Amino acid sequence: MVTRSALIYLSQREGLKEFASRFRPFKKLTTRFVAGETIEEAVEAIRLINADGCTASFDHLNESVTGQAEAEAEVREYLQILKQIGDTGIHSNVSIKLTQFGLEIGPELAYRNARRVVEDAARRGNFVRVDMEGSNVTQATLDVFKRLRGEFGLNDVGVVLQSYLYRTLADAQELLKLPARIRICKGAYNEPPEVAYPGKKDVDENYVRVMKLLLSSGIYHGIATHDPNMIDATIDHAQKEGIGKEAFEFQMLYGVRRDLQTRLAREGYNMRVYVPYGKHWYPYFMRRLAERPANIWFVMRNLLKG
Ligand SMILES: Cc1cc2nc3c(=O)[nH]c(=O)nc-3n(C[C@H](O)[C@H](O)[C@H](O)COP(=O)(O)OP(=O)(O)OC[C@H]3O[C@@H](n4cnc5c(N)ncnc54)[C@H](O)[C@@H]3O)c2cc1C
Repeated sequence: MVTRSALIYLSQREGLKEFASRFRPFKKLTTRFVAGETIEEAVEAIRLINADGCTASFDHLNESVTGQAEAEAEVREYLQILKQIGDTGIHSNVSIKLTQFGLEIGPELAYRNARRVVEDAARRGNFVRVDMEGSNVTQATLDVFKRLRGEFGLNDVGVVLQSYLYRTLADAQELLKLPARIRICKGAYNEPPEVAYPGKKDVDENYVRVMKLLLSSGIYHGIATHDPNMIDATIDHAQKEGIGKEAFEFQMLYGVRRDLQTRLAREGYNMRVYVPYGKHWYPYFMRRLAERPANIWFVMRNLLKG
């Protein structure tokens, strides 16, 4: 737990970000979790994922953007991604972060920027998932999402909830009334005990509680996890309730548990792989290290090898 907090803390240090981005051996290691720096590299990764029977979700890595011009560049990148999906025929939707579109400059800017991407996706019959970030922006993210959902359809835009937050069950109940498509995940940020369960057992129990609510809602949701216990609980609940495999999708991260990704796809489950790419990989990469201490040894071993 201490290691996890320390790595998430380091993920937010600007100086280290600069250093790591320039340190070639470190950058080379990111290929395990990051599909490359360009859209073309991500498209190639997605072709292979599609060939394995899985769909994908593009994530252009960037967050906590503080300048309007940078936020504008992010919108243009996503419009380009949506065009590329159309042109290449790959099976993928897109995931966006509102702080990437200027949420920390102002919610109105983030809303306007996200709206342009959702509008383009809707026109193309594609789908935009609004990722969830730290608890300082949970409410602002949900507010922007609700505005978007008010203007666009259920199958145009969805959002993410994190089972480590105390508020999540109530948020899920509220969002289902819209209705809304939800991705449930455990949550990847450092959160204080005032807002989030500190213990894994409680996070997992809440995950199962929310997963059951989502699956039984009759709406198509995303069950995002690599945890075999969460996956078994989902399959078990679906079987007991007579919920078909086509009624939901599992989601996993690029480079994590590929064996499980292909196994579930072969067993007939919908499986979507989240594919991050871009130059701003440092915070994302550090959060992945934080999730599994063994990943740190993988990094150390490879750095020492040169
Ligand atoms: C598709 C997808 C989208 C996500 N979107 C968001 C989001 O919008 N907001 C957010 O806060 N979080 C997001 N997350 C991250 C999520 O919150 C968790 O931090 C992450 O998925 C780890 O939790 P877990 O459910 O896999 O369970 P854990 O209990 O953390 O892990 C279970 C097992 O999975 C394997 N595993 C997990 N992580 C790794 C890893 N990095 N490397 C290698 N093995 C690993 C290990 O075998 C581990 O024992 C997303 C995750 C996925 C899969």
